[in-house]
Amino acid sequence: MRSEDDKWTITESVGVTALGVASSRAMETRRPDGLVEDPHAEAFLDAVRDEVDLPVEVDPQASSTDPASGLTSTYVGVRSRWFDEHLLDAARDGLDQVVILASGLDTRAQRLPWPAGTTVFEIDQADVVDFKDRVLTETEGSPEPAPDGGVRRVALRVDLRQDWPAALREAGFDPGRPSAWLAEGLLPYLPAQAEVDLFDRIVELSAPGSRIAVEHLADAVDHLDDDELVATSSRRFGVDVRDLVHTDERPDPRERLRAAGWTVEEESAGDAAARYGRPLEGPTARAFTSSVFFEARRP
Ligand code: SAM
Repeated sequence: MRSEDDKWTITESVGVTALGVASSRAMETRRPDGLVEDPHAEAFLDAVRDEVDLPVEVDPQASSTDPASGLTSTYVGVRSRWFDEHLLDAARDGLDQVVILASGLDTRAQRLPWPAGTTVFEIDQADVVDFKDRVLTETEGSPEPAPDGGVRRVALRVDLRQDWPAALREAGFDPGRPSAWLAEGLLPYLPAQAEVDLFDRIVELSAPGSRIAVEHLADAVDHLDDDELVATSSRRFGVDVRDLVHTDERPDPRERLRAAGWTVEEESAGDAAARYGRPLEGPTARAFTSSVFFEARRP
């Protein structure tokens, strides 16, 4: 169960979900029609294999509720591609401060072709950032992006339920200039009030011209009713996923951003998957198709 200020390592509690997403990215990377190429994902999984054994390849024999079946990794591939495109568009439009909230094992700082001069701020809990830095140092020699690309990565070890804006400013983030934000794979892990505070703080820190891209699992609670889906994922991860998410009701972030004067454009995961030629199909696909990706812009 969760508590107000709980902490985790990469192999515990919410930390394991970052490994789960890395597993999906590894599976996508091995597919010839993969939607994301993450050359670092497998190294993270190899580093914890003794404790958490997650797949790096689609298993055609796996049941559709198993993360190895390819349905989960297709969803993560679609979502990764959608956010890759939106973040890169923002950076190419001149937003040179990118903030990845709950960055986990996201390697966008290393793997995307950012315009020179971009700073990618990453925020996650200390042990998660430490694990990522350690593995990237062992495999790549450094956790930082290649210096010739002209992109700078600033990793912050801070909890998103605490005063993270202070840490971000101290690290060089300038709220007087526009920024691009990402909240992917995050919101269900925050209590309702922490989610409300998160968006309020982002609005405060966002100069005109700023953008935010969000994964919005509007009916995540319904997915938890699928016993088989929950049981199979829980077996793989070694934690009951129902114990990790907060299901308390919360205001719709799109409405709050519109009320603050931002414009919102969205696409369902089902539509995005079909558009990318990788439709989400099968008896358990509904758990994924109803998820919404949106981008909000401050005029
Ligand atoms: N966004 C990454 C991705 O898509 O690969 C990671 C997603 S993973 C499902 C969830 C991440 O949220 C974990 O890395 C976890 O540590 C982070 N997280 C959840 N709650 C957090 C909090 N209160 N403060 C900082 N990080 C948090």
